[in-house]
Amino acid sequence: MLHAEWPKHTIEGLVAEKGGWVNAHMHIDRAYTVSPQNWPLTNASLQEKWDYVDAMKRDATVAEIKARMHQAVELQLAQGARALCSFLDCDSVVRDRALIAADAIRNEYKSDITIVYASQPLKGVINPDEYAWFRRSAEFVDIIGGLPERDERDFGKGEMHVDRLIELALEHDKPLHIHADQMNDPAQRDTEMILRKTREAGLVGRVALIHCLSLAAQPAEHRQMIYNMMREDEVSVITCPSAWIDSRRNETLAPTHNAATPVDELMRAGVNVALGTDNIQDIYKPFSTGDMSRELWMMIESNHLYGTEQFSMDAVAAVASTNGMQAIYAHVKSARRL
Ligand SMILES: [Zn+2]
Repeated sequence: MLHAEWPKHTIEGLVAEKGGWVNAHMHIDRAYTVSPQNWPLTNASLQEKWDYVDAMKRDATVAEIKARMHQAVELQLAQGARALCSFLDCDSVVRDRALIAADAIRNEYKSDITIVYASQPLKGVINPDEYAWFRRSAEFVDIIGGLPERDERDFGKGEMHVDRLIELALEHDKPLHIHADQMNDPAQRDTEMILRKTREAGLVGRVALIHCLSLAAQPAEHRQMIYNMMREDEVSVITCPSAWIDSRRNETLAPTHNAATPVDELMRAGVNVALGTDNIQDIYKPFSTGDMSRELWMMIESNHLYGTEQFSMDAVAAVASTNGMQAIYAHVKSARRL
């Protein structure tokens, strides 16, 4: 007898037993925005794309943003998801339209799925105008979100970006989710910088970092030091494997590794790891389907998480389910409405 797709069915059965998928990182406000018109932009660098989405954001109405969110949430429900966490842009371009749409979507689906929101400072928090918009979004969201690479590129002020996120997290008593170390570059040590700052601020059990790809490019000793800090401060790491599999080839020397969050080492070190799909069919990830099963497969293969003694099938399934609840929801105390 053939055991076709036995491993896939086994692990997905375990995810279902745990209550279903938890998609711990998305951007539902920009889902399904890739089109034949903007297709040439798909090949731009990440940094160029930060601004290339402006044209689409400037023209988008609340109804249009809602329609995209609708489709993205329906897709998660169809897969059997129990919860999702989405970042939302709020800046001088889209203003508060994504927040208004997001509020309506959460109301509409409140009996079907847990929806948690984080603020996305795509335009940074150093420019005073953008900071004002970001402060405004902090009132609405459940989680203060961050993207220090934006202000590092524009002003050399990635650290100040993190300081401002922490200030807001303390002011509103809300947790932090920060995009960190996205470039798969050993010269980038933002994970360490963020951990030191959140530790100093006393934010234990209130922080999740998304990607931490450059961590995999560091020497073993440094990686281990970071894992220990994460475990001690109860920091979660959210991996979105397909989002960074496009890491560009270059001549930088680093320990050989897949362009993937080092999930195997993080799990071994006792760090809470969760799974997300990140962008869905926008200029960043035009072919991403938002399929959690596909992300789980990619995470398993890139980290050899084959349900051996060290990484039981149950522990791996938890990454796609209960660990996500811990990363996105357990620390959320309240969500204010618009
Ligand atoms: Zn993201």
